[in-house]
Amino acid sequence: MKQNNDAKDPRRLTFNKIIGDPRFIFLVSTLIVVVVFLLYRGAAQPRTETFYRILMDTSVELRFQTPAGQNAEALQEAVFSEMAGLEMLFSRTIPESEVSEINRMAGREAVAASEHLIYLLEKALYYGRISNGAFDPTIAPVLDSWGFLGQDYRLPGEEEIERLLPFVDYRLVEVNNNPPAVFLPHEQMAIDLGGIAKGYIVDQALEKLQEAGVTSAFINAGGDLAFIGGRADGEPWRVGIRHPHDENKVIAVLSSLGGAIVTSGDYEREFEVDGISYHHIIDPQSGMPARDLASVTIVAHTATAADALSTAVFVLGPQKGLALIEELPGVEGVLITPGLEVLVSSGLEGLLELHL
Ligand code: AMP
Ligand code: MG
Repeated sequence: MKQNNDAKDPRRLTFNKIIGDPRFIFLVSTLIVVVVFLLYRGAAQPRTETFYRILMDTSVELRFQTPAGQNAEALQEAVFSEMAGLEMLFSRTIPESEVSEINRMAGREAVAASEHLIYLLEKALYYGRISNGAFDPTIAPVLDSWGFLGQDYRLPGEEEIERLLPFVDYRLVEVNNNPPAVFLPHEQMAIDLGGIAKGYIVDQALEKLQEAGVTSAFINAGGDLAFIGGRADGEPWRVGIRHPHDENKVIAVLSSLGGAIVTSGDYEREFEVDGISYHHIIDPQSGMPARDLASVTIVAHTATAADALSTAVFVLGPQKGLALIEELPGVEGVLITPGLEVLVSSGLEGLLELHL
């Protein structure tokens, strides 16, 4: 007869003792609670999704946490089409854009414009005023004489520039609000919103996300960066500033808790003649590329402000540029000279890590 020795098996006794031990029961139940909590949190936590789209001649990266009840695909589609719609209004390379129509009608008649265009043009004129004309949305005729529009680069003669400069004057632009329309009083005048429009389009994209209930998002439109909220882990966002002479190097890292960060650099659109490089940010006083800085990074509450100011400060140069930044509340900046001197506005102390 087979004897049942289980009850006497010392291993079985120890096992029974362990599972009966209140500490063991406590441990297992705690573990179950933790696992259930983590699973629940995993399911409840909004997922962060990243999408890309080519817009405004650049690759736009859009990252956001999808709010409960929203569809990430539909939301990204809505945001990107909003951006594309705005580009259709502001672009000078799209012949049907409002800007193109205003420029075609220069010296002839006022052109009806959308609220978006009126708002952005008013902003551009404001940055023209506060930068004393360093930022000038009527820079187009001179930009074109350098061939920057079609990337058909050439060196304009001094006389040609002299002839065009009188038509570069933001104070001549006539904006009517009722009904909304824009008039350029000389046939040779033309507007170019390339120094500010990307920032505005980025702001509008974030506004669209906010309307959908998004509380954490990031957008990068070729160096125009903006955020909604902080990072999910509560840490500040860390943004690398590109080395002006080497696109694979970061010269500094900026910590930011939100808002927008925009960089203007002399490396973005340039060409060389006889070993001298010429780039796309033009000093409206001389009609020549601004030479005193290699890059300007601006931190501001909106990408519209950061974009316009990065271009304005680039033209103003280190002293006047830094003075303008210090004058404006909520605006900070990192200025890098062609000799790689790094100038930082007072509010960024402790937030910038240099990698020189
Ligand atoms: P950003 O990269 O934001 O500095 O913008 C550069 C673009 O702004 C150029 O490609 C032109 O379309 C335009 N731009 C160039 N010079 C000026 C200026 N002095 N004021 C306003 N816009 C400018
Ligand atoms: Mg700009």
